[in-house]
Amino acid sequence: MRPSLLDPLFAPAGSLPGIGPKNARLFDRLPGKPDGARVVDVLFHLPYATLDRRARPKIRDAAPDTIVTIEARVTAHHEPPNARSRAPFKVLVEDETGDVELVFFLANHDWVRSRLPIGATRWISGKLELWDGRRQIVHPDRVLNAEELARLPAVEPVYGLTEGLLQRTVARAVEGALKRSPRLPEWIGAETLRLLKLPGFAEALAAMHRPAAPADIDPAGPAATRLAYDELLANQLALLLVRARMRGIAGRAHVAEGALGKRLEAELPFSLTRAQRKAVDEIRADLAAEKRMIRLLQGDVGSGKTVVALIAMAEVVEAGRQAAMMAPTEVLARQHYERMAPLAEKAGLRMALMTGRDKASERRATLEGLAARKIDIAVGTHALLQEGVAFADLGLAVVDEQHRFGVRQRLALASKGETVDLLVMTATPIPRSLVLAYFGDMDVSALREKPPGRQPIDTRVLPIERIGEVAAGLTRAISSGARAYWICPLVEESETLDVAAAEERAAQLRALFGHAVGLVHGKMSGPDKDAAMARFEAGQTKILVATTVVEVGVDVPEATIMIVEHAERFGLAQLHQLRGRVGRGTGRSSCLLLYKGPLGDTARARLETLRETEDGFRIAEEDLRLRGEGDVLGARQAGAPGFRFARLEVHGGLVARAREEAQAALRRSERLTGEENRGLRLLLYLFERDEAAKLIEAG
Ligand code: ADP
Ligand code: MG
Repeated sequence: MRPSLLDPLFAPAGSLPGIGPKNARLFDRLPGKPDGARVVDVLFHLPYATLDRRARPKIRDAAPDTIVTIEARVTAHHEPPNARSRAPFKVLVEDETGDVELVFFLANHDWVRSRLPIGATRWISGKLELWDGRRQIVHPDRVLNAEELARLPAVEPVYGLTEGLLQRTVARAVEGALKRSPRLPEWIGAETLRLLKLPGFAEALAAMHRPAAPADIDPAGPAATRLAYDELLANQLALLLVRARMRGIAGRAHVAEGALGKRLEAELPFSLTRAQRKAVDEIRADLAAEKRMIRLLQGDVGSGKTVVALIAMAEVVEAGRQAAMMAPTEVLARQHYERMAPLAEKAGLRMALMTGRDKASERRATLEGLAARKIDIAVGTHALLQEGVAFADLGLAVVDEQHRFGVRQRLALASKGETVDLLVMTATPIPRSLVLAYFGDMDVSALREKPPGRQPIDTRVLPIERIGEVAAGLTRAISSGARAYWICPLVEESETLDVAAAEERAAQLRALFGHAVGLVHGKMSGPDKDAAMARFEAGQTKILVATTVVEVGVDVPEATIMIVEHAERFGLAQLHQLRGRVGRGTGRSSCLLLYKGPLGDTARARLETLRETEDGFRIAEEDLRLRGEGDVLGARQAGAPGFRFARLEVHGGLVARAREEAQAALRRSERLTGEENRGLRLLLYLFERDEAAKLIEAG
């Protein structure tokens, strides 16, 4: 149970003074608070920028395009000719050095007149601009009298908002939350505090929300570093506790001769690469041991993870148990099934597919098969996690493209049996600091080598204006038998518009290529998606226009051309994934990244990196540098719980220290008991590592 000391922080945000039910609902919509915002969410909603209102110049000295706060007398009103006029309401103010025009569009005239009566002296704060040689402030942020000025923070925090939410509402809520915060004991060790020169937790929050200077909210500054460290420490404690628990329960040995795996290998049209063989050996050793396996199989796109997983699953089946493999999308689950089932069958393995859209009768048959052990391996989407799904004896859970799943979902599959071994696979190479931060010291097998015969992909970056040439080139390629993906971007705000763009592109291409053009997008029904994929796989269509549905995992070795429209809108890792859809067969492949200019610096750097390298590890590092950890893990797309404060491109260096501190604490006391660990116990609850917190409570 959460210590009652923290109760004020976990009360609903609506309980804060001045926050009515309507505003409370707006807070609910801020990112990452699916179940209703609480006081702690308000407190942890940090400003992303500041407005510096410290400049108090005379009008003559005010620098254009900066925020100024000036003291001036109102000398004239220039009202629009009538109420329906669209002309602005202008107010002239001056001091002894010059004048400024205040401009209000569609203003409430009564408000302007009463706020700025002629002859009154006011403090006006806002961005000063030059317009036709005149000084103007359009819609001043503040119009204050001397008394109100005294209460104006010199440096104002700027918060991320949702539609309808106002800066001052957030500021008011934050003030309320700061006042409600209980005094908490220090949980960071004295040495770390001294070495990293960290302020206290409460002090850090106050510094972020009430900055005295813009530098106070700097991510690398002491306040943000303190909060990031707290979060990393909570996270490492949680990882270590969960892991100790998993290790504590002795795993079960899956003893097999490897006969089924050999049979599978014999059926493969290729032999395993050295890297695959090594991964298989590592996994087999884990499976045979009486400890629980928690292993990450990490390998760039196309490195051949699926077959490694299949052999691992066969091993567990040979030992008399069942295995399950979960994929993030229906398309991918189905493809895995279709690829693996024929091989599995030849080796005598019974495999079933389970997705959210199985017919009731199919579903019943699968459930019965799993319960009666008539099915050895279940492949599916998160439908596998449903309550009704029960295995006779699940031994191994494989989670493909793990970054698309939340932490809870990843673990949920493994809870479908008794001490289930866990293999998670990721096609997005994860830098070392991230592995540590997200998985603790999970064992890692890496496939750094690609299957032989792969040819480098010719990557080009072109402005969209050259689309005509691209279409001409495509015509030549298609007539000589090539197959191509044509990706239209997905912009989250409006899936409908994106789909429309993809449909329009498909229609245009059909005018050139007729029936050779297929279309697949996220709004299509499952069977329609499958059918479109199947036609492309079979070569009935040659060009597949798609939204990012194909991003993850899809494997059509005959496809050799990847065209990405609006490449500037995609993240680096995402583009790398998309490009990884080609270059899988023996044909020469190319990737055309079409962008719409002008390019920002980050977008330019991303496209440049892709042109330069195909090394997924390098790309991941670069991505981390350019965008932050959320995108590397795809956490933002999946809505998985990432970090609130820690930004690994800034704070990555703290992970190892947090880890050591967490280890030391648990060495002193396995369950963090005693007064000296009270702070750490609170920390776990404060950062809602509740699952881990339960482990220190259970008797
Ligand atoms: P990923 O690691 O991206 O999941 P896949 O498992 O989908 O990669 O494999 C990519 C392609 O490479 C598949 O067509 C697969 O059959 C093929 N493949 C896997 N291992 C080898 C190998 N050792 N030699 C040749 N081709 C292989
Ligand atoms: Mg894969």
